[in-house]
Amino acid sequence: MNTVTTVRDLRAALLKWRESGDTVGLVPTMGALHKGHLSLIDASRRVTKRTLASIFVNPMQFGPHEDLAKYPRALEVDCDLLAAGGCDLLYAPAASEVYPEGFATKIDPGPLAAVLEGAFRPGHFAGVATVVVKLLLQTMPDCAFFGEKDYQQLLIIRRIVRDLNIPTHVVTGPIVRDTDGLALSSRNAYLTPEQRKQAAALPKTLTETAVRLAEGQPIDAVLKENRVKLSEAGFKLDYLELRDAGTLAPTHDLALPARLLAAVRVGPVRLIDNLAINKA
Ligand code: AMP
Repeated sequence: MNTVTTVRDLRAALLKWRESGDTVGLVPTMGALHKGHLSLIDASRRVTKRTLASIFVNPMQFGPHEDLAKYPRALEVDCDLLAAGGCDLLYAPAASEVYPEGFATKIDPGPLAAVLEGAFRPGHFAGVATVVVKLLLQTMPDCAFFGEKDYQQLLIIRRIVRDLNIPTHVVTGPIVRDTDGLALSSRNAYLTPEQRKQAAALPKTLTETAVRLAEGQPIDAVLKENRVKLSEAGFKLDYLELRDAGTLAPTHDLALPARLLAAVRVGPVRLIDNLAINKA
């Protein structure tokens, strides 16, 4: 597997593939790869002839008090994992390549970015949107692969791709979880063994909440009880919300697709997770 670090080399490699008539799938990541990322590489390999991964820890999507400086970086191991996973090319640009001197443009992803994660992380989704649009325009892939782990991000990217007529098909992959249910995340590496044990209470509570909602139990009461449960499990709760799966508006209508979304903090680590609600 080759690695390129500049837009110029990236485009030269892509041109060769295009000249051979190969379809291209892009899997954007921030590195510190795990099985969740690799499931997206797998998905791409099933759908497109060529698979391109990007690794870029995007400064624009981190708030001033967030973990940009200490975000886990493991480029060598990541290269090995990608090569073993059958990835064809890695694009790993430096920040100066993505945001050269004088860079001034920002994508405003609109109302979907104002709620939930957007409310707790102001500017986060503008940073995500800007870098994803850049990556899509740099590579013009047939398909781009994103995980349901970042459900709100996924909806925002779908919206942007549609609104800006970007000729890429957005493909989603299910959340890959550890044996105790915790969604895999590069940030799980920050957890102490004690916190890691505690963290399993998040998916457990989400699943219990989802079951009760699917059974038709009163939504507000179920959410209230489970917010308390999360706090009792030792988390600082940012939100536990039931939302329309397409618009993220609050919903009480389980006849339509709905999503349960949560964010909690344990020690310095913020965990997010979500589940589809399937009414029995
Ligand atoms: P990140 O490196 O955290 O920016 O994630 C890169 C891509 O991998 C995003 O599309 C994420 O939604 C996806 N991803 C991260 N964790 C998981 C997971 N546990 N299961 C599935 N996809 C994931």
